[in-house]
Amino acid sequence: MKVTLSKNPKNKPDVSSLGFGKYFTDHMLVMDYIGGKWADPEIVPYAPFSLDPSTCVLHYGQGIFEGLKAYKNEKGEVTMFRPRDNFIRMNKGATRMCMPNFDIDLVMAALKELLKIDESWIPSAPGTSLYIRPTLIAKDEMLGVHPSHDYRFFIILSPVGAYYSTGLKPTKILVEEEYVRAPLGGTGEVKCMGNYAASLLAGDLARRRGFEQVLWLDAKERKYAEEVGAMNIFFVIDGVVKTPALVGSILAGITRDSVIKLLKYEGIPVEETRISVEELSDAYKNGKLNEVFGSGTAAVISPVGVLGMHGKEYIINNFEMGRITSLLYDRLTGIQCGREKDIFNWVTAIN
Ligand SMILES: *Cc1c(COP(=O)(O)O)cnc(C)c1O
Repeated sequence: MKVTLSKNPKNKPDVSSLGFGKYFTDHMLVMDYIGGKWADPEIVPYAPFSLDPSTCVLHYGQGIFEGLKAYKNEKGEVTMFRPRDNFIRMNKGATRMCMPNFDIDLVMAALKELLKIDESWIPSAPGTSLYIRPTLIAKDEMLGVHPSHDYRFFIILSPVGAYYSTGLKPTKILVEEEYVRAPLGGTGEVKCMGNYAASLLAGDLARRRGFEQVLWLDAKERKYAEEVGAMNIFFVIDGVVKTPALVGSILAGITRDSVIKLLKYEGIPVEETRISVEELSDAYKNGKLNEVFGSGTAAVISPVGVLGMHGKEYIINNFEMGRITSLLYDRLTGIQCGREKDIFNWVTAIN
């Protein structure tokens, strides 16, 4: 693989100022698809791309991305959490969006090289990590609506701070009754760019009403919980953990899958099912909506403290993180940072 090292490495930001996705490392991985085949991946200095204004992705959004993390653990090893699953999901998404699949082994090897080169950027303070953003975009320069012939795959890296810098604070989530995220048959289960643009307005309106994110309902009946912004959702009802089944409009989160496997391992009952808003408000009224939490790469596990429904605010578990939510948070972050035994073989070392 061709590697061109940066001649002017950047100064690294202070750990306390990292936040999420604000700083980028010195190098990136680029791999082009031209004339029906993939060129070799290359590592190059991090720099802007030059794109013709007619480039497909800028007009019709034929583009997908992924999000995963690398950690520097207590032994100083660099590891990733279930990276292969992200690339498998990305290839599935590529097929849905008429984009070419790539060789996962090749991309994994190239990503490991990139991580070795930018290893000094991986923070090691508790809760910090290196966020990895693989992206695939359509590159044809032409305004006809058609699947592009040429593509660019790239990976950029961003050191990110502890998601909960001020402790695990529960979030406030509004059940979205006007807008929908994804109908059956649409692109809800793909991390494609347009899904996020389409969700911005509802999120913005919810924030003005004092909520942090929205809980999307199914597009057809507007009755069943689907997911939250960039997180899957779980409800603990009368001791049973329930999460919406993957019906086609919901993103199949890797954290979601990890949560389900951990719950089964712990012997805590878990169901992938349909959960109506009615069931949630009934459970709440009967004192049986014990806990609510979201799952996703960025926050790992995010307790929900308030659910806004039918113009009311339902306060969950006294706005505190519940027992099952805490247990999952500890187990998952423990496995990710090497503090706990990797019983499921989820952790991949880069060297
Ligand atoms: C990325 C994402 C998730 C969470 O997926 P993870 O693989 O757990 O990070 C959930 N919902 C949406 C819409 C997403 O984009």
